[in-house]
Amino acid sequence: MSVLVVGSVALDSVETPFGKADDVLGGSATFFSAAASILTPVQLVGVIGSDYPVERLQPLVDRGVDLAGLEHADGPSFRWRGRYGHDLNAAETLETHLGVFSRFSPKIPDQFRSAPFVFLGNIDPRLQLDVLKQVERPRLVACDTMNFWIQSRRPDIIELLKHVDMVTLNDGEARQLTEKVNLVQAAKWIMDCGPKHVIIKKGEHGAFMFNRDSVFFGPAFPLENVFDPTGAGDSFAGGFIGYLARTGDLSEANMRRAVMYGSAMGSFAVEEFSTARLMSLTRAELDARVRDLRQLVTFEEELST
Ligand code: AMP
Repeated sequence: MSVLVVGSVALDSVETPFGKADDVLGGSATFFSAAASILTPVQLVGVIGSDYPVERLQPLVDRGVDLAGLEHADGPSFRWRGRYGHDLNAAETLETHLGVFSRFSPKIPDQFRSAPFVFLGNIDPRLQLDVLKQVERPRLVACDTMNFWIQSRRPDIIELLKHVDMVTLNDGEARQLTEKVNLVQAAKWIMDCGPKHVIIKKGEHGAFMFNRDSVFFGPAFPLENVFDPTGAGDSFAGGFIGYLARTGDLSEANMRRAVMYGSAMGSFAVEEFSTARLMSLTRAELDARVRDLRQLVTFEEELST
């Protein structure tokens, strides 16, 4: 089954302790698509400016990402500049230039409107809400956001929460949005606003999936070298939703497996700058890492006599 994603399509400039990259492919919709398309067809909605090197998106098309919803507008593309210190869990945003995103009004092509799975990637929550008005009863709608929008558009995010089934956030964003320090309380606060599922990502410390009656924890893969953490969150979401869309199964057992696909995908995303590692990733490598994750948390309980 296909996944519809709306989000930023960006040019990123990133500095990490291991190197620097300028004007590389980035954005929430780009990372999500690069990840999810390993598992299932993806339909992308977003906007690029006249300066975007559109030919660099061709490998995504070759992997099954439909760009019929990518608008080409006059003006500068969305640009994000960020830096990571030795704590690779925390990005410092140096510059955000919305460019053509500041005038963007998403138009979902007719052939995308019946997508069964929808991911509202990190963009202005007013645009995320606009998209929901144009789709026909998807089986699952998930959304993401970040500190930039929580600061400036918190009421719109809270309105959005009434209309989605699932939210993915990192721990800092969950605390900022809910004004709760404790993550269990933060997840409950979000579920009280509407969503049935909340995924709170904790970078190299794994991710929690909170459901109404259960909690599941998926570890992060212990990589020896993390090169560039940008896009890990969107790649997690791409692996998670991509796996659900591929299997079409929303049972709790399958959602737990999907968390492991999300975690595996996030771990590949950070091995190289931009989408480079995701684009060379094979399905066999992905499955092998999911098996490694399972191994990481499998143990035999000693039964008391
Ligand atoms: P993450 O998966 O959270 O690391 O997301 C990284 C991507 O988010 C980068 O490629 C950026 O281009 C994109 N990004 C950064 N700031 C924003 C923003 N305010 N709105 C939408 N996308 C953003």
